[in-house]
Amino acid sequence: MALRFFNTYSREIEEFELRNPTARPVRLYTCGPTVYSRAHIGNFRAYIFEDLLQRQLELRGYKVHRVMNITDVEDKTIRGAREAGVPLQTFTEQFKAAFFEDAHTLRIKRADEYPAATDQRYLDRMIEMISGLISKGLAYQADDKSVYFRINKFPDYGKLAHFDLTQLQSTGRVKHDEYDKEHIGDFALWKAWDEADGDVKWNSPWGLGRPGWHIECSAMSTALLGDQVDIHCGGVDNIFPHHEAEIAQSEGVTGKKFVRYWLHCAHLLVDGQKMAKSLGNFYTVPDILAKDYTGRELRYALLRVHYRVPLNFTWEGMNEARESLARIDEWLARLRKVAEKANAEPARNASHSDAGGRPTANTQRPATAFEDALDDDLNISAALGFLFESIRETNRAMDQNEMDEASAHAWLEWWKRINTVLDLEAETDVAIPHEVAQLAEERENVRREKNWKRSDELRDRISALGWQVRDTKDGSKLTRGAGTE
Ligand SMILES: [Zn+2]
Repeated sequence: MALRFFNTYSREIEEFELRNPTARPVRLYTCGPTVYSRAHIGNFRAYIFEDLLQRQLELRGYKVHRVMNITDVEDKTIRGAREAGVPLQTFTEQFKAAFFEDAHTLRIKRADEYPAATDQRYLDRMIEMISGLISKGLAYQADDKSVYFRINKFPDYGKLAHFDLTQLQSTGRVKHDEYDKEHIGDFALWKAWDEADGDVKWNSPWGLGRPGWHIECSAMSTALLGDQVDIHCGGVDNIFPHHEAEIAQSEGVTGKKFVRYWLHCAHLLVDGQKMAKSLGNFYTVPDILAKDYTGRELRYALLRVHYRVPLNFTWEGMNEARESLARIDEWLARLRKVAEKANAEPARNASHSDAGGRPTANTQRPATAFEDALDDDLNISAALGFLFESIRETNRAMDQNEMDEASAHAWLEWWKRINTVLDLEAETDVAIPHEVAQLAEERENVRREKNWKRSDELRDRISALGWQVRDTKDGSKLTRGAGTE
């Protein structure tokens, strides 16, 4: 069965038409973070959905060329830098680093490219595109010296969002600084410099200024992926105006269909409410780690609900994630024990398939239900349902000594395959180097003696070897990667 996705453009489930995985890489563009503050867990829900999409494509044999942009110049980054009294780049650099750190914590695969909007190569491309739009009559410079897209000249404007332009006209408020636009819905391609921009300015045929947010994505995607993108993702809040504007700009310049499949991830709620700093329910990845949860647990909690369904984040949900992962860990440990019984007695009643052709505990044929569920518009809840059903069945078989060594091996192989998509295995199952383990043990000992100085020295030595030690209620835990504290 072919892969199928819900396309926001058509509002229908469509088959993925690139049927031959070896024909060429899938061109995937995902709108990345705006680096004016630390990304919140709602942002990461979308990035985890995109990670799942990439991994499922790869499981199915596709090569994926993924681009994720970094928005390092727009209104919020400029305001933030001004308020902090530092240059724009100094201001954005810290949040860029934080984004990569959090993505690593959540085991999100790295994109092939992370273009930044302030890179001269892309600024040149933005200017080139804006010039092209002006020469086609699709853009104009207004009296305020800014350049705007003329949406009345692009009949498809509003099709992605299923948005009626006349509505925009009748309900739109005319802000005083927008008086010189021809249409209230015309959006800025190039914003003329004003005092509030400070040092943030580039030369252009229209005078000093900076790009609008939307043109950044059109420029970076066409520069790196060509005129046409196979799959473009983002959160539902990106649909309008951001993605609508991307279509207008890109298609306005190239005359070709910009994106084949538009996939959008639903909102994340916290305790049933929209996340907001004022409500005290605004969480970043470090906020969750500070409550003694791991990146793996948060990954599971953000992954387990279908991407088109709003996800309600709760601490109870985090505990459920922890329990689910513990079940997987225990199951794997049991399977490994059975698989390692080199000269074990043959299991009783070993059978390899049931009447319905569904995999049984002892089947050696890898089960495909998990992968099939993900082919169906990334139906992760069905896929996980199948995983836990398999865990129940195989545990029962192991309880009754009905699992032979070969079957245990087959299940472990199956897990290895589906875990390329899930990436949920416990860190400790990644072999801890002997030296690191020894240092950690020594550290445990000196901590019992309350020798904190020596404990800190050992932590630094462990960290220098690329491992992080975290002290929790259940003792210290080792994880790969740099520390977040
Ligand atoms: Zn974008």
